[in-house]
Amino acid sequence: MTTLNRRQFVASVAGVSALGLTGSLAILPSTAAADARKKGYYSYKVGSDIEVISLYDGIWQKAHDENFIPGVSVEETQAALKKAGLNEEFIPIEFAFTIIRTGGKTILVDAGTGGQLAPTAGLASDGMSAAGITPADIDTVLVSHFHPDHIFGLMEKETNAQVYPNAEILVGETEYNFWTAPDLIGKLPEGRQGLAKRIQATFPSWKNVNQYSGGQEVAPGITAVDTFGHTAGHTAFRVASGDDQTLLVGDIMNLPALFLANLDWQLAFDADKDMATKTRKAIVAEAVADNINVAGYHFGFPNSGKIEKDGNGYVFNPVTG
Ligand SMILES: [Zn+2]
Repeated sequence: MTTLNRRQFVASVAGVSALGLTGSLAILPSTAAADARKKGYYSYKVGSDIEVISLYDGIWQKAHDENFIPGVSVEETQAALKKAGLNEEFIPIEFAFTIIRTGGKTILVDAGTGGQLAPTAGLASDGMSAAGITPADIDTVLVSHFHPDHIFGLMEKETNAQVYPNAEILVGETEYNFWTAPDLIGKLPEGRQGLAKRIQATFPSWKNVNQYSGGQEVAPGITAVDTFGHTAGHTAFRVASGDDQTLLVGDIMNLPALFLANLDWQLAFDADKDMATKTRKAIVAEAVADNINVAGYHFGFPNSGKIEKDGNGYVFNPVTG
């Protein structure tokens, strides 16, 4: 597996622009990335026996908002996006989730937006079919946390009917207990009650939901890692075989161009911002020290690669082959 460093990446973007190929192509780090987006999925091995498939679910072109990163101006945010070679006109919140084949099982890690969040997201079912996988093939769903872009893909839009009724759905006990607490809805401002109501109308009545705790092996070679802060019980998943591993970091780092480049920037969507920052720094330190492959839900596509030191911050270098 090879990665492209940021300087090569910026150079390749400049090369693409020089050829007059502007538009969305200009932000792609390589032809491998363009190919992966076209196919809708990207697959790689962990060790010799675990296959990891990333699925591209699309993008939310979020309008800039001065509250998105408290204490950081829209201009500073735009400058960070530009430095990473991204379009600075909006916040490019991309979605990519994961299927893992291990121990004879097909495991989904998070379930995407289900086309219920942004008109430009909800593409993952195309990528899944392109990879030769149908929803009926999914044995287990691992949920990192209960934000809409990670769980709406488990529910039909109008009816809340299950998309994976025959799979076992495994959710972290801390996250589950937070969202299903009977007094939660009354404590939330009105604008934030909808998600909690939908969670309470679905998960507790589904018979195929079980819970895991931090440190537990939730499937062959996959261990839950408590990484709280983004939400009350956010979980990362370590996928390991022999000496090889990849860490599915979920939303710990959100957008690398912003929160890896500036480890002290905090995100409006982080429930406990100080805890989220502490968690982010700890995982970045581990990933760099041990040269671990990481895959992030909002890292763009392909969403798998290495974190490296870059000036005062860090940069995510996606795989290119
Ligand atoms: Zn997310």
